[in-house]
Amino acid sequence: MKALVYTGTKEMTYRDEPEPQPAPGEVLIRVDAVGICGSDMHAYHGHDPRRVPPLILGHELAGEVIAGPGKGRRVTVNPLITCGYCEYCVQGRNNLCANRTMIGMTRAGGYAEFVTTAASSVIELPEGITPRAAALTEPAATALHAINTAMRSLVRPIPECRVLVIGGGAIGMLTALLLKSYGCRHVIVAETNKLRRESVAKAADCEVFDPVAEPGRAAANSVDLVIDAVGMKATRALSLTAVKPGGTFVHVGLADWASEIDMRKLTLAEITLAGVYTYSTADLRAAAKGLGEGAFGDLAWVEERPLSEGAAAFQDLDAGRTASAKILLLPR
Ligand SMILES: [Zn+2]
Ligand SMILES: [Zn+2]
Repeated sequence: MKALVYTGTKEMTYRDEPEPQPAPGEVLIRVDAVGICGSDMHAYHGHDPRRVPPLILGHELAGEVIAGPGKGRRVTVNPLITCGYCEYCVQGRNNLCANRTMIGMTRAGGYAEFVTTAASSVIELPEGITPRAAALTEPAATALHAINTAMRSLVRPIPECRVLVIGGGAIGMLTALLLKSYGCRHVIVAETNKLRRESVAKAADCEVFDPVAEPGRAAANSVDLVIDAVGMKATRALSLTAVKPGGTFVHVGLADWASEIDMRKLTLAEITLAGVYTYSTADLRAAAKGLGEGAFGDLAWVEERPLSEGAAAFQDLDAGRTASAKILLLPR
């Protein structure tokens, strides 16, 4: 089969690879579309010690089961393969599974014609959903999980909240889109890349600004909720400044993690700080359903390219040359 293989730092090679064989309890999936994730970019830069070349990356996929349980079904997958019996799995919080592994990391991922994974991590897609929408299930579930986490600590309903989303990549974009579909009227997105700002403003119909050029735009104590989809020292500082007393700060992105935070404000202003990591299987199912129902809009901002041109897509994302918050690679 053809696959796009991460062969070294900033090196993606489109080449022939042996077709994977499903082990007992696994399925073989023919991939229809697979997204390029920030974490794949991180690996591409050689910054992820868990992703060791040569490796087929890619974990945001949609396709059809062609061997194993559920043969013939159109599916997406939970990239996390979880044990099903630890404390977190039985609580339905399987993103925290103590024994988890992951496709595109500890085993081959979806930048290929075929991929195998555990049958238990397969999620059936709603009727009629397009491959483009289906391949967005994983990032959409991350956005959904972040908003669900925030809603548990917000004092007022989400439509009434003023929300700052930091980052106009796929997670920031999908978060803004979902907030709008929940009826949230005041969504403002901070993004440094002009092309992405334009793309978010158009797709989510919300206020956007460049936090470097206009640092005062998200004023101190001005928002009920901040969702930081970047996770850098500067964005954490911006988040804690902008959040109102009694408000909530959800930390999703993790571009870097060394920083001091204003514990004085956190304490005296009773800010709720919540870290969120990925999604549970329930979040993935809800995201797939939402995508099938159009809750995330028409997805016109998503770009599709052949898998054979995947290396160029990584280069374009690296250079900030594309407005798309998400590029999907199509093996056929
Ligand atoms: Zn991802
Ligand atoms: Zn588990």
